[in-house]
Amino acid sequence: MVAIDPGHGGVDPGAISLNGEYEKRITLAVARALRDRLNALGRYKVVMTRDRDVFIRLRDRIAIARAAGANLFISLHADKMANAAVRGLSVYTLSERASDAEAAALANQENKSDLLAGVDLGAEPLEVTNILIDLVQRETMNQSSVLAAGLVRELREQTLLLPKTHRFAGFAVLKAPDVPSALVELGYLSNPVDERLLRSDQHRRKLAAAIARAIDAYFVRVEARNRQ
Ligand SMILES: [Zn+2]
Repeated sequence: MVAIDPGHGGVDPGAISLNGEYEKRITLAVARALRDRLNALGRYKVVMTRDRDVFIRLRDRIAIARAAGANLFISLHADKMANAAVRGLSVYTLSERASDAEAAALANQENKSDLLAGVDLGAEPLEVTNILIDLVQRETMNQSSVLAAGLVRELREQTLLLPKTHRFAGFAVLKAPDVPSALVELGYLSNPVDERLLRSDQHRRKLAAAIARAIDAYFVRVEARNRQ
């Protein structure tokens, strides 16, 4: 089960491009193309955090993915910056520091037993709970890094990448402790070349196909490891 999260939506347009295109429309177009590619592979179920122009809170995006039993979470965005010369795609996963803070907050919540699939934390003392969450989260971060590396490998063939393409940050939407997650910034809406590409259906389909290949490679690797 793959969760696809098209960034922004509804009252939140996200970044606005040089020609007035909204990030929320670009992320939804790429998300739909990605969903179609994954469906065509016949090995995946897909849940979209939104499939129309609607505002969804970040925590609700995670909740939608977890409710569907997602094994992977991909958030799609497009960037904007003052320097119009900067272009390129980048991939983010959660940073260690952000994760630790999130783990601490999670551990202190009242109902923690349903947070981690397959691990019943209800009866455990707090220290054990903290260690279990830490272990699950560490494994999730490792898997997220594997996913990010695959995304970089596939997307490098399709579009220009930012230097140090795989980056780390505390995006709220990446903070599910047990679902490997990555956020793809598809390019810069402030750059004329990226902007033109991101408004092109053909380019969006190319990006979606590359992301689908990376997802497929990720699961092949996970399955191979599980068989060992
Ligand atoms: Zn965004």
